[in-house]
Amino acid sequence: MQEASKKEAQRIGYAMVGGLIIGLLIHSTGQETYVSYIMPIGTIFIRLLKMVIVPLVFSSIYMAMTNLGTPEALGSMGRKAVGYYFITTVIAVFFGLIFVNLINPGVGTSLGGAGLGGLTGDMASKVSEQKGLYDTILGVLMDAIPTNPASSLANANILQIIVFAIFMGIVSLYVKEKAAPVNNFMAALEEMTLKLTHVIMKFAPIGIFVLMLDVMAKSGTSAIVSLSKYILTVIVGLTCHAIFLMFVASARLKKSPLFILKGISAPLLTAFSTSSSAATLPITMTSVEENLGIRKATAKFVLPLGATINMDGTALYESVAAIFIAQAYGIDLGLGQQVIIFMTASLAAIGAAAIPGAGLITMSIVLGAVGLPLEGIGLILAVDRLLDMFRTTVNVFGDAVGAIVVDSFLTDEEVHKS
Ligand code: ASP
Repeated sequence: MQEASKKEAQRIGYAMVGGLIIGLLIHSTGQETYVSYIMPIGTIFIRLLKMVIVPLVFSSIYMAMTNLGTPEALGSMGRKAVGYYFITTVIAVFFGLIFVNLINPGVGTSLGGAGLGGLTGDMASKVSEQKGLYDTILGVLMDAIPTNPASSLANANILQIIVFAIFMGIVSLYVKEKAAPVNNFMAALEEMTLKLTHVIMKFAPIGIFVLMLDVMAKSGTSAIVSLSKYILTVIVGLTCHAIFLMFVASARLKKSPLFILKGISAPLLTAFSTSSSAATLPITMTSVEENLGIRKATAKFVLPLGATINMDGTALYESVAAIFIAQAYGIDLGLGQQVIIFMTASLAAIGAAAIPGAGLITMSIVLGAVGLPLEGIGLILAVDRLLDMFRTTVNVFGDAVGAIVVDSFLTDEEVHKS
């Protein structure tokens, strides 16, 4: 790991701890209204990160395709990536179900706060849109195909941008030198957005400090206490899954867990404080390539796709939350219904956007599938922002490990030009 990125990661770490402590102090003195004066700095940081996502994803997926050289190489990498996403998501849900059934966090929980009242209008209506299992799968597949790529780019619909870039990248291989001007443009765009990411990273310590300060100063400690068993279940599940992923990463990269952790500490801390895999993506890409030595073509393909559809943390959280709600309502779910939760939690995670609070919205898929009341979401609302930080960190970690694993299974010929 380069000295500069080590220092950068250290600064981000200090900023996060500083924001956490000062935020808690502000909370304890009841002065949280003052935080709104400096919060624009945090908002600017997130907006800057978002600014690079669309050009970065578009150009890097396109370049990954042209670097792969043949559609067969894309198929090989694609199959490995999707296989990894699928297996790890299933394992994450499994961890969630084990711990929620062992700890039983919802048994004896009061239903006093249940309701969708805490959600803002738009979110509440999205939650209320229940869909069946078939419609959910079909919906995700259909939505991935853009009808107008310009509007996909304009609306930052990452999955559609990925699909369009894959198609464009593949056809560029067939039209050969005629594609040269576009290839050159994309190569330049990619280079420039990566450079821009490095510039934005200079602001990361101050941005993360303010974001942490804001969350901590505004955190409702009473909700944390009353939902402590539920929070504990999610965090224990996430920790076990992260340890499992770390074993896999360490074995495939043949490096110590500490080396890996140091290499990707910047994206992990950014994920924790922004609660957005998408906003973290530019940092994940630069860290995985520069600090862990993952080949460019792999990182460019596996990470943007992973940030969009591979959400181990979210899948785990959805399964725990659904069973927690059932327990709180005194509804006994049999094995068959837990299997449905198993499947829908995985799907809900794939369908969740890589933005804060997205997992809470797709909870309606899981609850609807087993006939649990949507109002149950009201029970977990108060601590969702807090848990989002943890699950997003695991989502981003899962993506980074995905890049390691897929890269380790590819031969030099398969990623030959990178
Ligand atoms: N915030 C998460 C992410 O960006 C998604 C979620 O809400 O679970 O990865």
